[in-house]
Amino acid sequence: MRADLALKPAGHRTDREAERLRPVPPPAAAGGAFSGRVEDLSRPEGAPLRQFASVFPGTASGGGHAPALAVHVRNLHRRFDGRDVLSGIDLDIAPGEFVALLGRSGSGKSTCLRVLAGLDGEASGTIRVAARRAVVFQDARLIPWKRVLENVTLGLGLRNAGETALRVLKEVGLADRAGAWPLTLSGGEAQRVALARALVRAPELILLDEPFGALDALTRIRMHALLRELCSRYRPAVLFVTHDVDEAILLADRIIVLGEGRITLDRPGLPPETRDRGDARAIALRGQLLQELGLDSAAQKAAM
Ligand code: ADP
Ligand code: MG
Repeated sequence: MRADLALKPAGHRTDREAERLRPVPPPAAAGGAFSGRVEDLSRPEGAPLRQFASVFPGTASGGGHAPALAVHVRNLHRRFDGRDVLSGIDLDIAPGEFVALLGRSGSGKSTCLRVLAGLDGEASGTIRVAARRAVVFQDARLIPWKRVLENVTLGLGLRNAGETALRVLKEVGLADRAGAWPLTLSGGEAQRVALARALVRAPELILLDEPFGALDALTRIRMHALLRELCSRYRPAVLFVTHDVDEAILLADRIIVLGEGRITLDRPGLPPETRDRGDARAIALRGQLLQELGLDSAAQKAAM
């Protein structure tokens, strides 16, 4: 991975790069988006996950054609103890698209994310994901005996890894904590390190599993703003798992609801200027999503 690529925000990209990063239409219209340089990733149950060469041609191991999707999943199934948890998921995510995956507790959100992250070898279906991807969990999962900077550079393999990591730490507002031990960080700071560790890899796809679920309300608000800013600059594809309807409305360009092992709703998010909690469109969408999640009107009122 090139260092300049790792740290080039969207606003600084050349026209040619911007062209490559533009979201592609869904696969029916995109036709042969995967032809040629992407392997057939259909696999039987238990077979190892295989990856896109790269969704950004001309970078990393990519080829030089039109951009592929960041995620292409067909008929994804996952069973636990003879019980279907995911039973036929179809999902495409375009480069740069921010998708929230909503669902009740136990609906299979984390299972889905783990499959896409390559952390679950037991799922079946067609599963194609961008090769350069990063995962952020609810707990930051920092290595306690390594300082913040080393946690960010871990396994990076760049010649100027330290310098690159410092620049990303600055972007998440933590340049002054580069030498700190993880145990001395607040929850919000630790998650900002986790975001820096993800971004420093210039991911084509970021998978986040309730990343702010353990933070206090004020810190969450700050993290939402930070994530939105970073994503609008770097434009990775994002799959953001949450059970929080408001978080999904606030952040996402597209909202997917998972229930009974299937996608029960897949709809566009709101324009950014109408995502405020008090906005009429946000209120209406909130009601729709709560209903989709199976909350009756009394429970909805309590949640308002
Ligand atoms: P969510 O993230 O939406 O809360 P999960 O994906 O964690 O839900 O879990 C979905 C269902 O799959 C739950 O019923 C959970 O108990 C079950 N499950 C998840 N992981 C395992 C596992 N490793 N072994 C057995 N059951 C599991
Ligand atoms: Mg979960």
